Amino acid sequence: MAKQQLSVDETVAMLDAVADAIIAAEPELSEADRNLGDGDHGLGMKRGMEAVKAKLSEGGFESVDKVFMAMGMAMMSSMGGASGAVFGTLFRNGGKALKGSETFDAAGLAEFLKGGTEGVMTRGGAKPGDKTMVDALEPAQKAAELAVSLPLSEALDTTAQAAEAGRDASKDLIATMGRAKTLGEASIGHPDAGACSVAIIFRTMATFAAGN
Ligand code: ADP
Ligand code: MG
Repeated sequence: MAKQQLSVDETVAMLDAVADAIIAAEPELSEADRNLGDGDHGLGMKRGMEAVKAKLSEGGFESVDKVFMAMGMAMMSSMGGASGAVFGTLFRNGGKALKGSETFDAAGLAEFLKGGTEGVMTRGGAKPGDKTMVDALEPAQKAAELAVSLPLSEALDTTAQAAEAGRDASKDLIATMGRAKTLGEASIGHPDAGACSVAIIFRTMATFAAGN
């Protein structure tokens, strides 16, 4: 059954599925970072997601904001590199925007993405077009904003599609932030590794909410 909204326990299960998907994608995420950076993105994300799974398994979350925030904090304290700060901020600031909600729905998704994207852009300084994870995140945020009145599973599907389109479009960009910056025009032709992670995160949430 496609979900209209998720309870706190279902939100924990959804984020546990996200962690599993990122862990399983470690080889492709490492490969993406080898093309443009230092090749450690998959391993860093994997380490972060193992910490996330351990934290989620402790339970005791009273509202959905606490679940997302705990995920962000587990990532920040376990991952190094740019992505520890950036992805940790996405989940921590996104979670904070949910302020005590007992369910996660399409309106919550839009709030999460608004708070998370603002946090990432403030903390990391990247703008759309710099060839970072922001190029998948910002289109996802815009899609979620337009999907607030849809059932959660449909809102997540259009959000995931926007993130995937942003990841694909990042191939054609010249990197102006992060390690890939030094490559200049040689960065054209490969998608950004962090944008690949963003696409996996929202596609996995959509698949979970669709009841698969
Ligand atoms: P590092 O660059 O420290 O090796 P990772 O390889 O784990 O870290 O992550 C690289 C990813 O982090 C990039 O693909 C990009 O999406 C993201 N990133 C790097 N710098 C920034 C930034 N300033 N703002 C947003 N995202 C960034
Ligand atoms: Mg790297």
